[in-house]
Amino acid sequence: MEQNEGSHLTPQKRPKKIPPPVPKKRPKSAPTVGIGNGTVQVDEPNPILSVPKEVLVSCDDLTRLPVLYDDVVLGCIASRYQQNLFYTWAGPTLVATNPCRPVPHLYTPKEIHHHHNQVKSGIDRRDAHIFSVAGLAHHRLTHDLGFINQAILVSGESGAGKTESARYMLEYLSNIETNFPLVPRSPLKGVWEDKQPQDIQERILASNPILEAFGNAATLRNHNSSRFGKLIRLQYGGRQLRGAEIDTYLLEKTRVTHQTENERNFHIFYQFVIAPKGNLDSDLASLRETLHAFKQLDFSMSHQKQIFQLVMALLHLGNVNFSQDKENHNSWTVDRHNAECLKSLESACELLGLEEDKLVDALTIRTISVGTARRVSVFHKPCETEAQCVERRDALMQLIYASLFSHIVTYINTQVSAHRNLWSHFLGVLDVYGFETFDQNSLEQLCINYANERLQQEFMYRYLAAEHQVLKEEGFLDVDVPYTDNTDCVVALDSNISVFAILNEECQLKRALKEDEACDRVCKALEDTGVVHAPSSPKRKAGFVVRHYAGPVKYDAKGLLHKNKDEVPLEVRGLLASSSQDFVGGLVFDTSDVDPESGRRTTRKVTTLAKFKASLDTLMRTLARCDLHYVRCLKPNAGSLPGQPDTGYILHQLRACGVIETVRISQAGYPVRISYEDFISRYGWLKEEDAVDVSKEIAKSMLGTTQEGHIDSVKCRFGRTRIFLSESALHTLEAVRELKR
Ligand code: ADP
Ligand code: MG
Repeated sequence: MEQNEGSHLTPQKRPKKIPPPVPKKRPKSAPTVGIGNGTVQVDEPNPILSVPKEVLVSCDDLTRLPVLYDDVVLGCIASRYQQNLFYTWAGPTLVATNPCRPVPHLYTPKEIHHHHNQVKSGIDRRDAHIFSVAGLAHHRLTHDLGFINQAILVSGESGAGKTESARYMLEYLSNIETNFPLVPRSPLKGVWEDKQPQDIQERILASNPILEAFGNAATLRNHNSSRFGKLIRLQYGGRQLRGAEIDTYLLEKTRVTHQTENERNFHIFYQFVIAPKGNLDSDLASLRETLHAFKQLDFSMSHQKQIFQLVMALLHLGNVNFSQDKENHNSWTVDRHNAECLKSLESACELLGLEEDKLVDALTIRTISVGTARRVSVFHKPCETEAQCVERRDALMQLIYASLFSHIVTYINTQVSAHRNLWSHFLGVLDVYGFETFDQNSLEQLCINYANERLQQEFMYRYLAAEHQVLKEEGFLDVDVPYTDNTDCVVALDSNISVFAILNEECQLKRALKEDEACDRVCKALEDTGVVHAPSSPKRKAGFVVRHYAGPVKYDAKGLLHKNKDEVPLEVRGLLASSSQDFVGGLVFDTSDVDPESGRRTTRKVTTLAKFKASLDTLMRTLARCDLHYVRCLKPNAGSLPGQPDTGYILHQLRACGVIETVRISQAGYPVRISYEDFISRYGWLKEEDAVDVSKEIAKSMLGTTQEGHIDSVKCRFGRTRIFLSESALHTLEAVRELKR
């Protein structure tokens, strides 16, 4: 079998047999790749390239670019963006660049219909569109043998458009479902019987405004930033959508008590309390949406009232402040002399169903246990500083909010999920925070970046490494597409001797938290890994640096252990259980003493990192049972301005989410693979010379689109067991086949 010449190597590994461009062929003007009205210089020593802008704009799959230098990939995305083409394939991955302005014409029912028909017709070429991803996953789920679970992973930095993309996909998936039968369901048996057929779709969509009201906030990067991760699994029985289940990850509960300057608290506070009084139009409109969604999901009026009472109570608690005792300067208590504070205290107590003295004691008196396990003496001691009181109040507020959020998610699930017997497979859409690096990074960033490492690792195993292996097995030894293996980083973060292990151990020790020392321990224990090291700048030495696959991040020592321990004082926890209101007393207020691995109660303190790792382990087990689809969202520029792609900003994101690697390996791998058996049965009329001719034909067509002498590849290769073709090669073959028939 003939082995075609030409290889698909990265620019760095370009083989010597392909000569570098000869000076005499160098164009007079500087080499450029068109980007919009401007141009991008192609850095030496890359060969001279000049890909016409029309080629870039019309290329809706990066793997079909004639050359794959970063600048060309970037030029393609940027020039398409300027032509209002926001979606581009990167092999199996969809790159979605945020339009940063409303583009409703892209998501009309007509568009849904168009994409649905395209998927149904089985045409290999799918338009680059977010609906195509949802459509393909749905098609595989419902039409392929065996009903394989599907998951669509949406990633990207804050403000890149993850949540909107996930929302459009849900809309698509809900809208293509018609003739849905009524499904009575236990434990709320019969609840749906009087509903319209499209009820389940509406309910699933209604979960969005509620979760956004309680889980999203305006930040500096995104006016509607999701402060939690979300996996929604659409449950299917046969080909029918039966229900859905939502898992959420790591709500940023500290936002209830602390917001960075110019950022806001969760939307619900403004919607419910401030908007009606202050006439904030946008929040008022959202409030109407939230209330409508509550109705659609059968939150009763009294249930809604209970929820809003908690929201009000939190606002009042936030106004409770503290003053030093006039006689005993070593003790602090609630400032009841201040009329406003007193009023807030009374209102909070009333709304929470708590006795005033009990709340004051919980906020200002510490219980200290001393002694051994056999003989414990308990002392009560007033808080000695204002900070101690504030810490307790904040812990209470965060506990209430996190419990309320998880209560709402649980309730929504009872309203949208189908009975276990009614569904067998699912289509999941995962919207999680992308890789984050700020001037100051803390436990939240550590968790988020760890989640991204795990997802990247899965992508690597499932796609990059697997592809590499296939190519090697097929005998393409010249194909050498380097990819980043981030296993070392994951191990350094979560194994037995790791960042997580050390930070957890420090939180278990019965002594005051020593954050600087803990970070020093991390640096020393892991310095040989090559992944973790001490910060180099002497000014900001407390902390450690982790080399993530997307770049190094310095984590600050300050607050790290505190947030990891996430301690809610016992008295504060007990306080809520004493509420006279069943709703407040009944919320599952604390799961910190449930071991996330065994699910059993434990005396061991379960840290934030341990809980987060456990929830990610579960997520990864879920994903392991799915076909995966990827949507990589890009933010065009730091300011989220429409029509202005900032190429440097985009390139950084493309690298961070592995798009460049995906494109290289996809092109090297030739997406169409046909076994020789199948090939002969379909194209058996081809004699061997014909086969050669065909590949020449393909090479020629390739030549037509690139500059003379700059062919990186022909579009067909013969492996040990299969023929590998590019999509255009397949089209050529099919065209020849048509002619010969
Ligand atoms: P992320 O979830 O990645 O933080 P969002 O999905 O919330 O980002 O998007 C941020 C903002 O960008 C949205 O509020 C919206 O204004 C805009 N946006 C995102 N995707 C689109 C889209 N497909 N069309 C129009 N605007 C969009
Ligand atoms: Mg979001």
